[in-house]
Amino acid sequence: MQGIIENLITQLSKLPGIGRKSAQRLAFYILSMSREDARGIAEAIIDVKDRAQFCSICFNITDIDPCSICISHLRDKIRICVVEEPANIIAIERTGIFNGYYHVLLGALSPADGITPEKLKITELIKRIRSNNVEEIIIATNPNTKGEITARYITELIKPMNIKVTRIAYGLPIGSDIEFADEVTLSKAIEGRREM
Ligand SMILES: [Zn+2]
Repeated sequence: MQGIIENLITQLSKLPGIGRKSAQRLAFYILSMSREDARGIAEAIIDVKDRAQFCSICFNITDIDPCSICISHLRDKIRICVVEEPANIIAIERTGIFNGYYHVLLGALSPADGITPEKLKITELIKRIRSNNVEEIIIATNPNTKGEITARYITELIKPMNIKVTRIAYGLPIGSDIEFADEVTLSKAIEGRREM
């Protein structure tokens, strides 16, 4: 049987980017923490697994449905920012520059991998646009091939609806991910968005 420290190291090394050495360092750090702090980490992990769900409106990850962004009345109703993943919302929210609503596609188009438009939350986006007074769709998919294909596909669908479609400008190298953009770069990208 594995010892308790050995087991913790094994469990931690299942996380991405955590090799055996890092896992060992973390395990001994956890051992030195107060019981409350360690319990806080353990419970936060169980909590997300038990309570996290997709918002039925925007497909953000939330514990209440609709999510806190969708139920807010303080946001700019005429703008929806389209992102690939829920993590992108966190990145954009951190800039504090965007005050509209979001729509998560839950991926990007990649026909070669079987990711066709039906696999993404595109129909749901069109429905939202039709039933709300939306004036601008800001496309913030990643600046890589899949993100560009997705942006172009959505633009072609939405433009005939007489809605302004913009794409955020990136001060980022092509092929990168907005999740890892710093706040200043991302703020500038949103401010510098251009019409599609
Ligand atoms: Zn929502």
